[in-house]
Amino acid sequence: MKKQEEYIAVPKNTIAVLQKHGFQFKKQLGQNFLIDMHVLGKIIRAAEIGPGDVCLEIGPGIGSLTQALCEATLPAEEGTSDQPDAENAGGAAAHEAEKNAGGAAAHEAGENRCGRVFAVEIDDRLIPILQENLGDYPHVTILHTDFMKIDLPSFFEENHIDKPVKVVANLPYYITTPIIMALFESGVPLASVTVMVQEEVARRMQAKPGNKDYGALSLAVQYYAEPYIAAHVPPNCFMPRPGVGSAVIRLTRRSEPPVAVKDEKLMFKIIRAAFGQRRKTLVNALSGSPELGGNVRLADGGSLTLSKELITEALTKTGLQPQIRGEALSLQQFADFTNALASAC
Ligand code: SAM
Repeated sequence: MKKQEEYIAVPKNTIAVLQKHGFQFKKQLGQNFLIDMHVLGKIIRAAEIGPGDVCLEIGPGIGSLTQALCEATLPAEEGTSDQPDAENAGGAAAHEAEKNAGGAAAHEAGENRCGRVFAVEIDDRLIPILQENLGDYPHVTILHTDFMKIDLPSFFEENHIDKPVKVVANLPYYITTPIIMALFESGVPLASVTVMVQEEVARRMQAKPGNKDYGALSLAVQYYAEPYIAAHVPPNCFMPRPGVGSAVIRLTRRSEPPVAVKDEKLMFKIIRAAFGQRRKTLVNALSGSPELGGNVRLADGGSLTLSKELITEALTKTGLQPQIRGEALSLQQFADFTNALASAC
């Protein structure tokens, strides 16, 4: 187990790594490195990382969070797990793992297995730095690629990943939503996604109808997962400081969607169109939407033309007023409305 002063995330260690390699931040890659051990511990605890876990990190930077993940996924050292150093991110994580069922079960079974950590970084300048900084951890795999170009089902198969993965990351803010949607929509087995995002984005993911932050992202995230904001993080916890506040959000994957919808793709097209023009009534937003204009293909092979009459009819069938705006509908109501539309063809 590492001592706190040995962690890369300690500001003087981060500065030493940056100076040694003459590293200059690239703003367009969302490079704001975490330099706060307390926040690092909160992420590891919120993600409930323990020995034997398989973790996927998007954007490891110089390896600050990766190192804490590596420490937490190692088998607990004899005699150390009962009295962890509370200030030590890896130690705290190991302690948490004792409390969580997976870690405890592994111990009882005497498996004491080492986990795995996959870290995907786009910036070629960071690869040799990561290799050097994480050289002590044979269970980490550093991948040099754009995360958005990975075919996740093939990646899981090629790496023989046979258990739900815990995604943990301090995300590059310019592609937060595409990354989260790619993870959920890929259908790969995920246990949870615990990520640092802009505070405003975290609020949107958690928002309910009637809240100004409620939108397409809220509905998409809540269809796949249960969100929970684990920490609010001020700009001074990063180097360089971002212009906005951040938050750590944990999205726990649902085993089943919370609503039954016959045509998932159609529902999300409707949701996007509804919030694309959120000031309009649902009837006007959908009938005037470029994505839904003309013939809409359905999952069962049929097709539908979304006329104002058909939309009004489906709203009435769902028990909703024809003048209603999309922002007033819950996920259940979007599902019921989509089912009413799909059954009209
Ligand atoms: N994990 C590190 C930390 O917490 O200090 C760095 C986090 S920094 C906010 C985001 C990282 O994502 C950067 O290292 C950046 O180069 C990387 N990145 C940006 N776009 C990426 C992409 N499309 N695929 C993989 N990594 C990406």
